[in-house]
Amino acid sequence: MDSDKYSKLFSTDLLIHDMRRDRSVAAAAGRVGPSSLTCRERVRRTMLGHEFTDKVTATSALIGTYIHTGITAARKELNPRLVHDLEIKIKLNKLEMVGTADEIDLDENSVTDYKTVNDLAYRKRVGPDDAHLRQVHLYALGLIQAGMLQNPPTVRLVYIDRSGKTDEVWTYQQTYDPNQIIWIEEWLADVDYAIQHKEEASKDWPITMCRRFCPYYSACRPDDVPGLAITVPEVAQAANTYHEAHLQETEAKQIKDGAKELLRSVEGMTREGVTVRWLTVNSDNGPYERIEVKKVKGGE
Ligand code: SF4
Repeated sequence: MDSDKYSKLFSTDLLIHDMRRDRSVAAAAGRVGPSSLTCRERVRRTMLGHEFTDKVTATSALIGTYIHTGITAARKELNPRLVHDLEIKIKLNKLEMVGTADEIDLDENSVTDYKTVNDLAYRKRVGPDDAHLRQVHLYALGLIQAGMLQNPPTVRLVYIDRSGKTDEVWTYQQTYDPNQIIWIEEWLADVDYAIQHKEEASKDWPITMCRRFCPYYSACRPDDVPGLAITVPEVAQAANTYHEAHLQETEAKQIKDGAKELLRSVEGMTREGVTVRWLTVNSDNGPYERIEVKKVKGGE
């Protein structure tokens, strides 16, 4: 088998394995869970069992899943009194959901969800993602309904840096807020209204996110293409060349990022005359390290 074929098979295995996970199977089967509450139109399409029209690049999410599995194993081993990965039924006015809570501390009366993100510094600055907060509130509601937690419990989100750039962990916690559930009920009522009236629901995501992350994108946003045709051959060729160069640029950036990881803390010169050093740059957000790689004369 050649290396390209092996790479394709390898990434296909990861995708197939991910598709077999409970959450993916639930989404494909039209079941809405606590982590689905991001866009009302997307939930409507899921509930009605619409076919996916787009393949969403999921490598970053996949890596998050693997890290999540490792975190859960570590917490389980070192804190055996905590309850992990518990399946919970959540009864709402018109819908019953099933979700899996990452960590429950019955003594502390709390439920915690782990989140792996690429933007930890940003997350710390702006606070928890609303969708994450609603998700952990739904787990809390299910646990109150099951009599496992007393009302009001503590809800907690733990953010871990997926990129590995920092060891820091950021935690957000608050007392369970029933207004979050009222908000979710109203949000789902909008979806229900759209289904009953055979309409589309609110398209809550900005189109740039739809393009990148939604498996219903082509069907939901068919008008997201420029209306004018490019008919002048030179201009069409320029557009196609630009696109090709953009793909090459993206690939080159990925290669550079991979090499940069290996060069962390390295300074010196290769036999070919390529020098590597790290410079401290002062910016408004504080100092950071920048790599400088260049070729000097005199190498082999
Ligand atoms: S394409 Fe965007 S608006 Fe449409 S369902 Fe997906 S996320 Fe929602």
